Amino acid sequence: MPTFVYMTRCDGCGHCVDICPSDIMHIDKTYRRAYNIEPNFCWECYSCVKACPQHAIDVRGYSDFAPLGHSVRVLREEKKGTISWKVVFRDGREKNFESPIRTTPWGSIKPPQDYEAPSEDDFKSQELAHEPDGLNIDGLPALTPDKLKQGVV
Ligand code: SF4
Ligand code: SF4
Repeated sequence: MPTFVYMTRCDGCGHCVDICPSDIMHIDKTYRRAYNIEPNFCWECYSCVKACPQHAIDVRGYSDFAPLGHSVRVLREEKKGTISWKVVFRDGREKNFESPIRTTPWGSIKPPQDYEAPSEDDFKSQELAHEPDGLNIDGLPALTPDKLKQGVV
């Protein structure tokens, strides 16, 4: 479900613009409020929803398979360190979830620039950047060319 900004709640702070990995949260030049320029390119990561201090970002299903009538609202409470989700179904059922804003202390994650620049061999590896260290494991199983034909008679 992509995101939707209530312009009357948005104050144009730009946090959602900064955090969106798909670069689809933009500030409208006339109204100085955020909006999702391309909902079908939304990763549905909800980073913007969680980052918005004004609770201005809603989550909506595509109208073709989720006709209007439901809602997903989020409440970020920094003092409590929690994010609460309230899901209301079209038939009136309601579900509430509460989870920590994050499970590690702020600032404790090593930023990309603190890692060594990748070597030429790293680009040939099946591992993604910062793997396996970033996953806190020693190694990932990898498929080698000699294993590709296993099982083929
Ligand atoms: Fe961008 Fe993720 Fe928000 Fe979609 S849910 S607009 S991809 S930050
Ligand atoms: Fe508006 Fe929220 Fe985005 Fe700030 S984070 S620009 S208040 S939608």
